[in-house]
Amino acid sequence: MTNLSPQPDPIDCQHADCNGPVLREYPGREALLGGGLSIVRALPTRGLRMVGAWCFLDHMGPMQTDAQHLIDIGPHPHIGLQTVTWLFEGQMLHKDSLGYEQIIRPGQLNLMTAGHGIAHSEESPPGSQGILQGVQFWIALPDSQRDGPAAFEHHASLPVIERGGSRITILVGELEGTRSPATVWTPLVGAEIVQDAGGSLSVALQPTHEHALFVIDGEMHIDGQPLANDRLIYLGDGRERLDLSASAGTRAILLGGEPFGAPALLWWNFVARTTEEIEQARADWERGERFGDVTRYNGDRLSAPPLTGRLKAR
Ligand code: MN
Repeated sequence: MTNLSPQPDPIDCQHADCNGPVLREYPGREALLGGGLSIVRALPTRGLRMVGAWCFLDHMGPMQTDAQHLIDIGPHPHIGLQTVTWLFEGQMLHKDSLGYEQIIRPGQLNLMTAGHGIAHSEESPPGSQGILQGVQFWIALPDSQRDGPAAFEHHASLPVIERGGSRITILVGELEGTRSPATVWTPLVGAEIVQDAGGSLSVALQPTHEHALFVIDGEMHIDGQPLANDRLIYLGDGRERLDLSASAGTRAILLGGEPFGAPALLWWNFVARTTEEIEQARADWERGERFGDVTRYNGDRLSAPPLTGRLKAR
């Protein structure tokens, strides 16, 4: 994904003050990306910038794809983060400046580590038909990795915890001792909860981590309280367990992690620590340096928007 607002404001991503369990709902923002793809951006949002190292969450679609409606997000750069792509329906095609070209389907994970810099495109595969729906997250990289080499991983299958009528797929990180094979650099979890039959579900959490839920479809309750769909529900830290109940067919995303211990400045497709790093990355992209070329993409690369907002250094 790319941030397509013509004049994005820089966002100083501070984690929420963790003070034990809370239940706070944050509204997302709707936006249109390339090809008519509508998204809800749930993170960052006003009042909540990060959950652990998670600093970005887009819910993509559902979108009907056909010959006239295809996703086509041209080459654009990233630094300082990992992108995590997970689909519920449909297919997407990733191409990057390392030379990777990878179709992703439901049940599979694409993980791109930007480090010092990478460029990629995201498209509907040629001839796509049917519904596309999924999520893309960004994970801020810690200082030890944020200037490191770029990398790309595709995982064709992921570990699943089956319990009662529920399936919990561990996308990244660890939950209840089950670990995803995807490479991450801070203690965190990203998991998909699908309640096939409806009923209750209890999940053990790491109490030193902060957590959030995002309900895609269906009715989910926590401690008897209903959770709105397409909204980030911030749960705070200090929870030993999560006691959920959900209707049949409910799908939700659980995010969590150790509160991120460094400033994270988010602008366009960059996560950095200082204004100067953002300015340098923007200049490097505009000069055609540093990020490499997505040679297999047929079309123009995206231009960086103007850097007009005031970037606050912390
Ligand atoms: Mn992207």
